[in-house]
Amino acid sequence: MTIFVVQEHHGRALHYDFRLEADRVLKSWAVPKGPSTDPRVKRLAVRTPDHPLDYAGFEGVIPKGEYGAGPVIVWDTGPYRNLTEDDGREVPVAEAVERGHVVFSLEGKKLRGGWALTRFRGDDWLLVKTDDADADATRDPVRDEPRSVLSGRTIDEVARGAA
Ligand code: MN
Repeated sequence: MTIFVVQEHHGRALHYDFRLEADRVLKSWAVPKGPSTDPRVKRLAVRTPDHPLDYAGFEGVIPKGEYGAGPVIVWDTGPYRNLTEDDGREVPVAEAVERGHVVFSLEGKKLRGGWALTRFRGDDWLLVKTDDADADATRDPVRDEPRSVLSGRTIDEVARGAA
């Protein structure tokens, strides 16, 4: 089983780190506005360095002076399936990322069903919900579902050190 995680992170600016497990690392993108469940909405996703797999469970405060200093929560996580194909052949996720287009299905608490990440310029990609049964233009999980799926805390509670 491979996992995905979305970590809300208030570093220099608030963003959502979207990570997909592939080849024992977490392929990563920073999504300034977070994911949208509306298939008509394209969200900028900036490619960031791979992270170690065990970082997927990190929630807490990155200390001042370290890169990315600030609070982090596990905003959503769960298993995912690779759906990337080329001429009917499955393209492994790491290869799909190198080629600039990866399609996958999430089984998180907040994010479910098909999604695609597509590179359009340098490190700039777009994250888009597939128009399937889990698409929902009336939902806004970034606004309405702010709590950690691990601890139930908001990012402000983590920043204040609340238990
Ligand atoms: Mn980050």
